[in-house]
Amino acid sequence: MTGVVQGVGFRPFSHRLATELCLAGHVGNDAGGVFIEVEGPASAVESFEARLAQEAPPLCRIHEISSMPLEPIGERAFEVVESLAGSQVSTFVPPDVATCSSCLRELFDPRDRRYRHPFINCTDCGPRFTITVRLPYDRRNTTMAGFAMCRSCEKEYQDPADRRFHAQPIACPDCGPELRFVSARGEVAAGDGALAAAQICIAAGRVVAVKGIGGYHLCCDATSDAAVKLLRSRKRRAEKPFAVMVRDLEGARRFARPDDEESKLLSRPERPIVLLCPRSGAVLSEAIAPGSPRLGVMLAYSPLHHLLFAPVPGFSTPVPECLVMTSGNLSEEPICYRDDDARERLAPLVDAWLTHDRDIHVPCDDSVAMVVDGVEVPLRRSRGYVPLPVWLPEESGTLLATGGEMKNAFCLARGRQAWMSQHIGDMGSLETLEAFERAVEHLGELYGAKATRVVTDMHPSYLVGRWGQEWAQRKGTPLGIVQHHHAHLASVMVENEMPRDSRAVGFVFDGTGYGMDGTVWGGEVLVGGYASVERAAHLRCVPLPGGDAAVRAPYRMALAHLRASGVDWDDDLPPVRIAKEAGELAALERQLVRNVGCVQTSSVGRLFDAVSALLGFVYRSTYEGHAAVVLEAAALSGVGQPGTEWPDLHFDLTAEEFDPSRLLATMVAELRQGRPRSSLAADFHSAVARLVGDLGARLCASAGLDVVALSGGVFQNALLLSLVKKELAGLGLRAITHRMVPPNDGGLALGQVAVAVARWRSGSSHDH
Ligand code: ZN
Ligand code: ZN
Ligand code: FE
Repeated sequence: MTGVVQGVGFRPFSHRLATELCLAGHVGNDAGGVFIEVEGPASAVESFEARLAQEAPPLCRIHEISSMPLEPIGERAFEVVESLAGSQVSTFVPPDVATCSSCLRELFDPRDRRYRHPFINCTDCGPRFTITVRLPYDRRNTTMAGFAMCRSCEKEYQDPADRRFHAQPIACPDCGPELRFVSARGEVAAGDGALAAAQICIAAGRVVAVKGIGGYHLCCDATSDAAVKLLRSRKRRAEKPFAVMVRDLEGARRFARPDDEESKLLSRPERPIVLLCPRSGAVLSEAIAPGSPRLGVMLAYSPLHHLLFAPVPGFSTPVPECLVMTSGNLSEEPICYRDDDARERLAPLVDAWLTHDRDIHVPCDDSVAMVVDGVEVPLRRSRGYVPLPVWLPEESGTLLATGGEMKNAFCLARGRQAWMSQHIGDMGSLETLEAFERAVEHLGELYGAKATRVVTDMHPSYLVGRWGQEWAQRKGTPLGIVQHHHAHLASVMVENEMPRDSRAVGFVFDGTGYGMDGTVWGGEVLVGGYASVERAAHLRCVPLPGGDAAVRAPYRMALAHLRASGVDWDDDLPPVRIAKEAGELAALERQLVRNVGCVQTSSVGRLFDAVSALLGFVYRSTYEGHAAVVLEAAALSGVGQPGTEWPDLHFDLTAEEFDPSRLLATMVAELRQGRPRSSLAADFHSAVARLVGDLGARLCASAGLDVVALSGGVFQNALLLSLVKKELAGLGLRAITHRMVPPNDGGLALGQVAVAVARWRSGSSHDH
C-alpha cells in the first residue's frame, strides 16, 4: 500500500484485523509504504483485503493497494516485522492531528496514568510534521529523541496490540516533556500550577503566550473588551479579525451558528479555524472581528488547550469560556516557535508564557477554511493539512515553485506528488525570507527531494522571484517564469484532477498580479490549460493612483473608477468628501489627468474596494481584503431585502472588456435616490455573478468547453462564490473551485508547478 500509511497506526490495525480473521503472515514498512503478507482460507484473505481499505485508521490516506497471490508456506502467526531500510524514502510524514477521543477520555480520567498529562497522544493523534526533523518518521528523527521512554511507555510502544504501538511522540508524566509558566517578572510554576497561573493571568485580562503545536499563540479572554483591545494595541493590529478557540462544539455553538457541514469541519482531526456566522447577543468582545460578517472559530486541538479550558484540581481558578488565539508574532512577521525567540520577541506583547520543553522543529500556523454551499473552501492551508501531497496531472521531475509574495506558500514536487508548504506569510521582511528558506530546506530534507529546477512568478520586484533567480544561477539551470493568473487557473485545475491536456475558461479575480503587458492584472478571463492560456477578456483598466498607496486607500480607487466612468466628483459622494478632507482631491485629479505615478490595473479586487468606499463602508483598508469583507457583510444583510424595486445593475460587455461605467453611474444615481446601501452592495455582488455567467457561457460556446474555473482572492468572498456557482449551474456549466489549496496567492505555487511541467514537456519555457 502506498500513501499516508506510516506513523498512522496502520501496522497495529492490520495486526488486529489479521488476528481477528485468524490469518497468519506479517506486516512492515518499507520505502514505498507498507507491505503485508497474509496466509489463510481464501474467503478470509479476501475479506482482509476489502476491510483493509474500508476500516483503515482515520489518519491513513491510502493512495494505492496492489496485491498478488502467493503459494502458502504454512505460517502460523501474524507478526509486525522490522522496517526495511530503503535507499530512497518515498513515503509521507503525516500532518499534525488533534487529540483523539480516546486520549481525551484518558486525559480526564483520574485512574489513568496519563491523567492531566499535557502531552498525551497515540497513533491516532498528536504532533507529527512539526516535530519531524527528517525521514523515516521514527522517534529518533523527531524532537522527542531527547526524551528516553520509561518502562511503561516502552512496553506500549513495542506492543502491536496497543493503541500506542510505534506512536513516535509517546510520553507520560514519568518520561515526557514538562509544562512551565513564566511571568514577565520571572515567577515560575510547573505542571498544574502552571495551568492555574495561566488561567488566573487570562482571567485578569492579561495576554499569555501559549506554546502550541506549530508555534506560539497570543492568548487572552475573548469575552473581555479590555483584554482584546490590549492585545490589539500591543500587536499593532487595528481591525483585522482575531480567531477564537473554544473547548468543544457546544462551546462553538454558544458564540456562532455552525450548520452541519461547518460542525463537521470544526470537529475534523485537522481542526482548522472555520469562519462562521456569529451568534448575535453572544458575550464576545466587539473588538474581535469588527465589521466582519464572520467569526473565525476553532476547537481545542492539543491536550494543553483542553487542560486550559478545564478546572485545575486543587485550585479554584476561573475557567475560560472562549479565548482569542492568534499567531504569536508582531503583525506580518513569521510565527514564533523557538523558546528563546518567543521569550525575546514576544516580551513586548505578553504578560506571561505558558511553555514546555518539547521543541517545535518547524513552525506551522493554524489553517483557515470556510464552507460555501456545503463544500469546504480552504483559505489558509497549513497545520493539519501539511505535508499531505496533492496529485499532479503528470510526472514532474523534482522541482520547486516559489509561490507568490503575499500569503506565501511554496511547493516542492517530485513524480506525481506536489507538497505544498505550510503558510509562510507575506514576504517583505528578512525574517519571512529566512522562514521561507528554512522551510524549503526542511521540506526537501523530509522527502529527500533535491529540486533541479525552480519556477517563480513574473513580477520583477518579488523577493521570492529574486530568490528563485539566484537559486537558478547558482545551479546553472534555467528559471521558469509563470504569469500570476495563469498559475491561479492551473492550480484550481490540478486539484480538480483535470487531465494534462484539458482546457477551461478561467475567471481569475484578485487584487494584484503582474500582467504579461507589465500592467497590474486582477480581473482576468483566461481560456486555456496548463501549457498556455489566452487572455480572452478583462475588467476595463483604470489608473492605480500612487500604486500600492491606492491599495490601502479604497477611496482613491473609487475616485479613479468614477473618473474612468465619466461620473463627476461631486461633494455628496463619500470618497470625494474623504479625499477633500485629506486635502488630496486636487493632487489626485492632477495625477489621474497627467497619468503620473499611476499604473493601469484591471483588478476586480480593487473594484470591490472602490464600491465599498463609494457606498461609504470602508475608506481606508487596515488589512488585506478589509473593504471587500465589510462590503460582503453589508450585501449579506441586503440580499433579498423586501420591496427592492430597483432594476438590476449590469456590466457592459465589449469584445475584450467588461466595463463597469454604466453600473457605477447607476449606482451613484440610485444612491442619491435613496436606495439602501446594503441593497446596492447585494446587487453589485449579483452583477459580478451575472457577468461571470454571461461571459462564461459565451466563451465556453465559442471554445467548445463546458468547464469554468474560479480562482483568485476575490473568491474568498463566500456570497460571491455562491452566487457565481448558482449562475453557472443554471447555465449548465460545470464550475470548478478550490477545495485543497486556497483561491488566494497561498495556492499559487501548485499552479506554477503544473504550468512549468506542461511547458517543459511541450518545449517552451515562458509565458508570453
Ligand atoms: Zn490519541
Ligand atoms: Zn513514560
Ligand atoms: Fe493572486
